[in-house]
Amino acid sequence: MTIQLHDTLRGKKVAFEPLDAGKVTMYLCGPTVYNYAHIGNARPAVVFDVLARLLRQRYTLKFARNFTDVDDKINAASLASGKPIGEITERFKRIYNEDMAALGVLPPDVEPCATDHIGEMIDMISVLIDNGHAYVAENHVLFDVNSNPDYGSLSKRDLREMIAGARVEVAPYKKAAHDFVLWKPSTPELPGWDSPWGRGRPGWHIECSAMAKKHLGVTIDIHAGGQDLVFPHHENEMAQSECAHGGEVFARYWLHNGFLSIDQEKMSKSIGNVLLVHDLVKQVPGEVIRLALLSAHYRQPLDWSDKTLESARRMLDRLYGALRGVGPGTDARAGASVPARVLAAIEDDINTPQAMAELFALARALNRSTDNAERTQLAAAMLAAGDLLGLLQLDPDDWFAGDTGGELSSADIDRLIEKRADLKRDKDFAAADAIRDELLNAGVRIEDGSDGTTWRRA
Ligand code: AMP
Ligand code: ZN
Repeated sequence: MTIQLHDTLRGKKVAFEPLDAGKVTMYLCGPTVYNYAHIGNARPAVVFDVLARLLRQRYTLKFARNFTDVDDKINAASLASGKPIGEITERFKRIYNEDMAALGVLPPDVEPCATDHIGEMIDMISVLIDNGHAYVAENHVLFDVNSNPDYGSLSKRDLREMIAGARVEVAPYKKAAHDFVLWKPSTPELPGWDSPWGRGRPGWHIECSAMAKKHLGVTIDIHAGGQDLVFPHHENEMAQSECAHGGEVFARYWLHNGFLSIDQEKMSKSIGNVLLVHDLVKQVPGEVIRLALLSAHYRQPLDWSDKTLESARRMLDRLYGALRGVGPGTDARAGASVPARVLAAIEDDINTPQAMAELFALARALNRSTDNAERTQLAAAMLAAGDLLGLLQLDPDDWFAGDTGGELSSADIDRLIEKRADLKRDKDFAAADAIRDELLNAGVRIEDGSDGTTWRRA
């Protein structure tokens, strides 16, 4: 079947055909690396990882997910903490990748960093100035929104209405309220690069346009991100890229995920309801979080509550429970293809709730079957479906033993507990306590009893 994807620009689901037969390019706007990713940030990473897995089964995929490592929020974090910018961005890049790996997100093919593409950004800005789509004003370079009649087509905004309704104070050097920054001046203490317009730094939107072009070409097949990016980020990316390339299409399919809320409220620091992936992966297996993120269709809102993880864990218990004791050999697993109904669901605009319903139907059939050959086949089919969704990656026995690919395996924990007992015997209580803390940090609680020490995952 052809893959159907909902394209934001056309406002409907359409059949997907890559520009070059057999090859697909995809760009996902990645994180700004100045703090930990929250569970909402993980939604695009996980959902579009499923799409990447599907595309890889059929095409040669080149998938780029960038890091925004120059940004005023990063500068503010550096000022507040007294740490150099590079130290902050390197740290949070590493943590982001570790957290996403814990959620089963496979690494993209390229992870470009904005600061490695300043030259490309300057080149694109120069073209935009030369062809009359950008202008220099007070050491800034601005994109001239009025020069582009298509501006507003992605987010379905009418520029005249936007201007009439704008109440924002407009910087005096702008020709029009919605002109946006391509380049801005930096003071000596801020990061900056030499450019034809003086020492400065890029605006956010130009980063993605320059990185997408460098790694994927002038026209890319799929551009994805969260719904909040449609305007202004993606509208601006599209305007810059198309105006810099003589009107060549920038992205052929625009995909946007809906927002994740917590108990019907927007996640925000002021409400204090921000759930960090970094904390959650210590508390529950990554697959539980992943399944929860895939439990709603990606374009729908997803409301997260106390029950979300509990019910995702129970669902995985049922799936692993069906698989336990069947153990299709490696050959069966390698040879099995994704069951047609699961594949059809994912091909239908990444319908993960439907795919999961099909997975549960397979688990029920497996539970009912008494025929060994059939059971092996059903288990292999479930595992192939799991590979497409990035679920069921563990051995069922490990799942039930709590060896869920967290930071520590059961064997690691036993070893640490033994070491702690030795230290206590040697009266090195500080070192023994350090081990207790290390375990607690990894989400493992220990209890000393008359029969020795027992542990459980918190
Ligand atoms: P940011 O680092 O804020 O640019 O966000 C990284 C990605 O997470 C972007 O694709 C955002 O659209 C997406 N995102 C941010 N908050 C949420 C949320 N609450 N639900 C779903 N996606 C989100
Ligand atoms: Zn972007």
